[in-house]
This record gives sequence, structure tokens and C-alpha cells, in this order.
Amino acid sequence: MAPSNPPAQAAAPTRRQVRVTTNQAPPLVGHDVVTADRALSEAVLRHGSAEVLDDISAIGRMAGTAEAREHGQLANAHHPELTAYDRYGNRIDEVAFHPSWHWLMERAVGHGLAATPWEQQDAGTPHAHVRRAAGFMAWSHTEPGHGCPISMTYAAVPALRADDAIAKEWTPLLASTTYDPGLRPVAEKRGALVGMGMTEKQGGSDVRANLTVARPTSVEGEYTLHGHKWFTSAPMNDMFLVLAQTAGGVTCFVLPRVLPDGTRNALDVVRLKDKLGNRSNASSELEFDGTLAFRLGDEGRGVRTIIEMVAATRLDCVLGSASLMRRAVSEASWHVAHRSAFGSLLADKPLMQNVVADLAVESEAATALAMRLAAAVDGVDQAHEAALRRIALPLAKFWVCKRTPMHVAEALECLGGNGYVEESVMPLLYREAPLNSVWEGSGNVNALDVLRALGREPEVLDAWITEVGLARGNDARLDKAIDDTLALLGDTASLEVSARRLASRMALCLQGSLLVRFAPPEVADIFCASRLGTSYDGVFGTLDGGDLRAVVERTTPVV
Ligand SMILES: Cc1cc2nc3c(=O)[nH]c(=O)nc-3n(C[C@H](O)[C@H](O)[C@H](O)COP(=O)(O)OP(=O)(O)OC[C@H]3O[C@@H](n4cnc5c(N)ncnc54)[C@H](O)[C@@H]3O)c2cc1C
Repeated sequence: MAPSNPPAQAAAPTRRQVRVTTNQAPPLVGHDVVTADRALSEAVLRHGSAEVLDDISAIGRMAGTAEAREHGQLANAHHPELTAYDRYGNRIDEVAFHPSWHWLMERAVGHGLAATPWEQQDAGTPHAHVRRAAGFMAWSHTEPGHGCPISMTYAAVPALRADDAIAKEWTPLLASTTYDPGLRPVAEKRGALVGMGMTEKQGGSDVRANLTVARPTSVEGEYTLHGHKWFTSAPMNDMFLVLAQTAGGVTCFVLPRVLPDGTRNALDVVRLKDKLGNRSNASSELEFDGTLAFRLGDEGRGVRTIIEMVAATRLDCVLGSASLMRRAVSEASWHVAHRSAFGSLLADKPLMQNVVADLAVESEAATALAMRLAAAVDGVDQAHEAALRRIALPLAKFWVCKRTPMHVAEALECLGGNGYVEESVMPLLYREAPLNSVWEGSGNVNALDVLRALGREPEVLDAWITEVGLARGNDARLDKAIDDTLALLGDTASLEVSARRLASRMALCLQGSLLVRFAPPEVADIFCASRLGTSYDGVFGTLDGGDLRAVVERTTPVV
């Protein structure tokens, strides 16, 4: 058989033509990340007010600028560096950060995202924690690493209240909106930051296994510490709350980085951790040898004292993870709204709508729960709010943080190969995604904390039942999920092994209750059908019906 003629080839594109870029999404910059996030702004109106929303729009706009996003990338690309000794051989233990880190910190502190709300709350300002929570979520879009010292400074205040004099000395500096970095005595500073030292090599979650010892000096309340910490983030902070053993047991201490006379406290930064993510932030190993510290609370009550700080940082883990999800689904929905394949926009492809809508619903549920928790801090004087916070914090810390890595990975894939490239920001989000589940009590530890709360404080179950019950009668799937979850509690013999299952179900019911009451019907419907039903396939994009297009449109940022 004679060969057929080869098909006529199109003319090769010229180099100039090759360099004309088409069908690529423009960068997602120049928008207000608060107003673009409908779930967040509605939560602020619900738990706060129009004034609060107005107030945080400045930070929302700044977080969406190209400038802020570039600082976020730079702070992660240029890692902090430790200089242990100066040129003459003196120990200095200084960590240098990239200027972009300081740019981000200055704005975070300046917008009152550190400890400002505690003072505002004391002064009677309404919704101080909701305002700060929404601002923290918005600002975390820039990059999450610098949120660590911001969160710890926020979280330290309730623990410091164990000692009036110490709280009085430190709180105004932590609540300050002036970022004043550098190792100087606090008396010379206009603002200060706090870190936390609990984890040791031989026992992290189990802090009672800590070996660091505190010996009292001749001055009441003053001790010297001898030992180490295996993880202490942001070692340039001005003060740390640390745990050490005394004759009375595990005790909490305030450890200043610089002593009042200007000399540096005896605190050696041994090395900085080489971490998977959170790379803008420094996480160090420390050694103590006669390090001066001041007792906070009674001897032997250290866990009870520092748990106030841990609880407040857990709120930020939930807010931070909800923010990561929101940034990820913003980028994903933005990309598919601008990229075509096989003849039409990706956003119009039914299967892509399924994926993005599923991601959007997850993000909405995380935001709704995170903001509900922030409102509980504003209302902590009310018995229901205090009990709800106690149970919902470990629930949300377990569930929301656990969902984040899967969520971010799927969002990354929506951008195709571009999502795997650093410039897209998705790798930064992906590396960060597991962290909130690890620190401040890993997944199992939080799930077990749910059991502890249920076992020791009967009012917390009542608070959960009351809160989820507010949506009773509106969706049969939610009603059934609540009943099924309560039935799990009946089986106390197997509770420890099933703690994750119980925590997941309790968290899902809380999210369902919030979405059924407050989210648009299409969001609540998809949530109840997919998360509360029995046919969940375990990957995003397996929704079985629902108004996918409406959910995708709601989540896509408008610039
Ligand atoms: C980037 C980064 C920064 C950090 N910064 C700080 C810091 O500033 N200050 C600080 O004090 N710490 C810090 N940490 C430490 C962190 O809080 C701990 O790593 C974490 O609490 C877990 O402790 P661990 O590493 O000792 O693990 P382990 O306690 O050994 O836990 C290992 C695993 O066992 C599980 N587990 C523990 N107990 C039980 C149980 N009873 N039943 C079932 N499972 C259980 C845990 O959930 C975990 O999955 C940081 C960690 C990271 C990654």
C-alpha cells in the first residue's frame, strides 16, 4: 500500500509568539481579603458588628497587596540565622531575621494582633477577640510563620494573670501596638513579645517527664533554671513562659531574655531547627545553666498555670488553619476562574466545580467554627460560653487542623503544575499545613483532652448539646448526626481508642449547627449531605449533588 501523505503541519511559532503568555491566571493581588471572604465577613457581623468589620478592612486590604505577599515570600526564602558568638568569642545567642520578617511583624503588632484585645476587653470594648481573630485570619494570608510569636504574645496574658504583679508589669508591653525588636531590658522597650518553653527531648506532650530543674534563690519568687528545652520558637522574644521541676513539682516560670541591669540572661541558643515549613520563624533548642526566672503561680501548679496560654494558642491554631484553607481555596478558585482547558474555563467543568465547592465548604466550616470560638472568648464571663470554649477548643484544634493538609494539597492540585512551583505560594501553604496539628498538643493529645473535659466537667457536654441543639429541627441529617454522636458517648469502655472518632463527630456537629443556622442554604446542604452522611469517599471532589456553581461563585475572590 502506498504511504498516505503526512498531514499538513502548522507553521512553527516564532520566538516572539512563544513568549506571548496566554491562558494563565493573573496573580491574585490587590483585593481586600476580608470582604472577599464572605464566610469570614459574615461571621464578623454575626459575632461582632459592622464597626468591627469596618475596623479590620484596613488589614484586609493590606494583606491582599502585592507588597505584603512579596514580603511573605521573602521572609520564607531567607531563613533566620543564629550567631552564637561575636567576633571576640563572647556568647551573644542572637538570631537575625530578614527585613521582610520585621515588616510583617511591625504590621501584625501595629494592628493589635498580639495581646491588645485583653486590655480592650478589660476596658469594656465589645468584640475585642472577634476583631483580633478576624484580623489574625486575614493577616495570616501574608505568611503564617510570623504568626507564631504574635500568637504566643496574645496567649501569654491569661497565664500571666496567675500573678498580679507580673501581669501588671508585662501586660501593657504585650498589648502595645509598637513593634520594638532587639535584646534590651524591658524597662527600655515600648512593646514586648513572649515565647513558650515546655517541650524537652525526653518528654514533649508528657511535660511531667520534664528534667529541667528550678532552684530557689534567697529572693522570694526568684529561681535559677538548669536544664534544656528541645523546642522554643522565636528565641529573640523578650520573655518566655517555661516549665521546670521544683520541690513542689512542675512549676511555671517567667524567664526574661535580658535582665533589668542590661546583661543577657544565661540562655544558650544551641541551634535552630531545620524545619519542613514555618521557615520564616526560628525554632530553637535552648540550654539553661543558672538562668534567672520568676515563679508564676504556685509550685507544683505549672501545668494548670501554663494551660491558660496553651488554650489561647490552640485558638490561634484553629484560626491559622482556617486562614490557610481560605488562602488555598482563594488561589484555587481564582485559578480555575481564569484558566481554560479542553475548550472552556476550568470553573465551568462539572468535576472541577465539585472539587472547588467541596474545598469551599470545608473552608467555610473551619471559619465558622474558628470565629465561634473567638466569640466564646469575648463572652467567657457567661457560663455557657466558658464551657463551650473548654470543649470546642480541643475539638476544633483536632478536627480543623487535621483537615488542613488534605485541603491544601487538593487546592494546590487545582493549579496543576503551577501549584507545585514556589512562586504560586501553594508550596509555602502546603509545608505549613501539618504544623498546627502538631504543636500545642498533637492530634491524639487534643482528642484525649476532649475525653478529659467530658469526664471531669459535666457542664461541657451540656454546652455542646445546647450549641448543636440550636439548629435542631432544621436538617434531619444534622439531627441524626447529633443523636448518633451522643450514642458514641454511651460506650465509655472503648472511648480512649475511639477518641479521634468522637472528636471528629462532635466537631462536625458543631460545624453543621453553625452552617445550618448561618450559612447560605447551598453551603449547609452540601455540608450536611457530605460530612454528616455515611457515604463520604475520603477525597475532596466526591460531592453527590448540590448547587456547586453557587458555592464556587461565593468563594471566588472578587478583585
Ligand atoms: C515548628 C515547631 C515549633 C515548636 N515550638 C515550640 C515552642 O515554642 N515551645 C514548645 O514548648 N514546644 C514547641 N514545639 C514542640 C511541640 O509542641 C511538640 O513537638 C508537640 O507538643 C509534641 O510533643 P513531642 O514532639 O514530644 O511528641 P510526643 O509527645 O512524643 O508525641 C508523639 C506522638 O504521640 C502522640 N501521643 C502522645 N501522647 C499520647 C497518648 N497518651 N496516647 C496516644 N498518642 C499519644 C502525639 O499525639 C504525637 O502524635 C514546636 C514544634 C514544632 C514542630
